[in-house]
Amino acid sequence: MPAEQITLRGLAEIPVARLKGVGPKKEASLAKVGIANLFDLVTTYPRRWVDRSNEARIADLVPGEEALVLVTVRSVTKRVTRNRRTMVNVNVGDGSGRMDVVFFNQPWRERQLKDGLQIALFGKADTYRGGLQMSNPVVDLIGDRTGRIVPIYPQSEKAQINTWEMAGWIEETLRRCADRGIADPIPDDVLRSNKMIDRPTALAGIHLPEDMQQKELARRRLAFDELLRVQLLLVLRKRAMERDQRGIAHSMSGKLVDRFYEALPYELTGAQSRAIAEIEADLAAPHSMHRLLQGDVGAGKTVVAIAAMLAAVEGGHQAALMAPTEVLAEQHATSVRAMLDGVIVPDPDNLFGDRPLRIELLTNKVTGAQRKEVLAGLADGSVDIAIGTHALIQDKVDFESLGVVVVDEQHRFGVEQRSALRDKTAGGRMPDTLVMTATPIPRTAAMTVYGDLDVSVLDELPPGRTPIVTMWANGPLMETGVWNDIKSEVAAGRQAYVVCPLVGESEKLEVASAEETIQRLAFDELQGLRLELLHGQLPPDEKHAAMERFRSGEADVLVATTVIEVGVDVPNATVMAILDADRFGIAQLHQLRGRVGRGEHASTCWLVTQPNDEEPEAGNPRIEALVATTDGFELAEVDLDLRGEGTLMSTAQKGRSDLKLASLRRDRKLVEQARASAFAIVDSDPDLTRHPLIADELDLIFSDRDEEFLSRG
Ligand code: ADP
Ligand code: MG
Repeated sequence: MPAEQITLRGLAEIPVARLKGVGPKKEASLAKVGIANLFDLVTTYPRRWVDRSNEARIADLVPGEEALVLVTVRSVTKRVTRNRRTMVNVNVGDGSGRMDVVFFNQPWRERQLKDGLQIALFGKADTYRGGLQMSNPVVDLIGDRTGRIVPIYPQSEKAQINTWEMAGWIEETLRRCADRGIADPIPDDVLRSNKMIDRPTALAGIHLPEDMQQKELARRRLAFDELLRVQLLLVLRKRAMERDQRGIAHSMSGKLVDRFYEALPYELTGAQSRAIAEIEADLAAPHSMHRLLQGDVGAGKTVVAIAAMLAAVEGGHQAALMAPTEVLAEQHATSVRAMLDGVIVPDPDNLFGDRPLRIELLTNKVTGAQRKEVLAGLADGSVDIAIGTHALIQDKVDFESLGVVVVDEQHRFGVEQRSALRDKTAGGRMPDTLVMTATPIPRTAAMTVYGDLDVSVLDELPPGRTPIVTMWANGPLMETGVWNDIKSEVAAGRQAYVVCPLVGESEKLEVASAEETIQRLAFDELQGLRLELLHGQLPPDEKHAAMERFRSGEADVLVATTVIEVGVDVPNATVMAILDADRFGIAQLHQLRGRVGRGEHASTCWLVTQPNDEEPEAGNPRIEALVATTDGFELAEVDLDLRGEGTLMSTAQKGRSDLKLASLRRDRKLVEQARASAFAIVDSDPDLTRHPLIADELDLIFSDRDEEFLSRG
């Protein structure tokens, strides 16, 4: 009878004190490591499993190599060495042999390690006086546990809990659950189609496996549960959003968009066509679109954005493109205007059957009469496409009928801003939203982080790009080569970027460093070249003028802070030098590098670092990754690897909802399976009324803050 089976919530309601051997002292110790109840306990998983039968034997130890052995303590002696260090000498053995273990300066080992005790030792064995010896190995007490596979739990010296106690309590918990049985809330068909074992078997298999394969199947199921819960939350939210918001079913003849394609000097890439088809299907549907367009720098996102905006215009609506900075908004306006130059809107109401397309820029710099005119055009619908900054979402801005919103580089916006723009609804109907990002996110991570958005990926660069050669200039000698390269490119009529070092968190310091850099370069390395300074603290019109001088070729070298990271597009620039490159992250370096390689000439990106004096031979994996590849997705994977797993949730609130067994990196397939299953469950039962145990589990495991964090796009 399923109702009587014990649920995770049921386990969470039983305090650990109900277990044998958990008195007030152990209860306090467990609380210190975040274990208050039986749910916390059974979801504390072993950090490794040792197979007694075919590993961990003394006879198999290789001198000089780290290994783990499971042994029994035979004798313990303590003495003080000549230089007053304590030395505990322990003789241990297993069926295959004996060895000595020495502990220096750990006098308490004498009390801890008693004759006959079973322990796991991890360390490096060396030959010493003809026999084997380990010094200061990691010790796990495993007590008198039997069984072929020994689980080793995370243990805390501080909290005074060891792995065998943990194993004992968990075993007791599972034994006491056996009568009622442990509920499995996941429907059979989902388990079957994903080839998953049931939950009670999985819990037994992770804690008390009989062989390693059992443990692996158990891990797979429990990791799936973790991922499924996250995906369920995101899919529920996504579907709710689609249900609650009345969207616009755009009617598109395709005529206007076709005119745009005809005017393009090139063919769309396969990836662009695919993304546009996905977007058009969303636009035609009655619910509103929430789509993420991911594409590496230079992948051609603008064309896709324009196609989406024209689709709105064609159906009689307006479109808006929102950029994070004024510089970028202006640039978008310039390039969108250029790409749509001569494209006219089919208009049956017009005597000529056509009318011109009206595109307007709206930033805080657009003022006075001009601003009035733009605002009036937005309100009466005569402006087809509005391009701007957050000025677009101020209360005073009204659209007649906003149909499509494109948000560029959304990592610079807060969600509130995104939704504020969406709230400029067309007669109560939510405009369709396309979020563009050039920050490559591995697909599975995107599925989790952006789980409430659909994702389109531009995974193909337009043809004819000159690949960027990336080089690492480590030290002053190589740096000379960098400046020579810049001088010779400038002599050949090209231009260059110099990106100044990141200085801490402070923008003031950064500006100071940029000013210092440009002065030094002007007097020294790049003397005689026309240098231009660009940083975030310049007044907007000076910023604009500096950009313009560089764009028009009046300046040879743009010395800048990371403000050039987004959107600056000068095809004649063929060299970039990034100073103190090791202070930047992989993603940021990749973004910066994308500012070159935009024209017909071969481009170079120099990553300049100071040599590491302490370790002259030390490598730099981030720099090396950038030198090795220009593929943003590959780099994103490397980045994820180098940074380690990280946690899914914000670090400040690690807890129940954290991934304990699942890894976004290793379990890519499982993430996809979990997402597909979440859709299957939610689409068959949108409120989870027929899956009350799942609903209850989500409620148990996720706090409101988790939900907020997960849905932050
Ligand atoms: P992103 O915004 O993705 O970084 P852009 O939209 O700015 O990239 O496009 C980068 C450059 O590639 C632009 O100069 C654009 O004109 C060009 N481009 C875009 N699509 C194609 C294509 N299909 N074939 C050739 N060039 C293209
Ligand atoms: Mg772009």
